[in-house]
Amino acid sequence: MTKCLYCKGTLVRKRVRVEKWVNEKLIVIENVPALVCEECGEKYYDAETALKLDEFLYETKPDRIIQVPVFEYKEG
Ligand SMILES: [Zn+2]
Repeated sequence: MTKCLYCKGTLVRKRVRVEKWVNEKLIVIENVPALVCEECGEKYYDAETALKLDEFLYETKPDRIIQVPVFEYKEG
């Protein structure tokens, strides 16, 4: 794949950060090899990488823990 499925933009090989929600928990995986659309930022992973990403859902010992500020959207 060399073109974005959504906007036909050019895909470039990059290391990216992936955020995944598991139930109520957010996990972050850094340094993931991906193809990223230069136009819309859509990320594509090859099959092997996608499988590996799923394995992190069951990983219990993260390399580090970050705090995330949470805001509740209020109308007006
Ligand atoms: Zn795109």
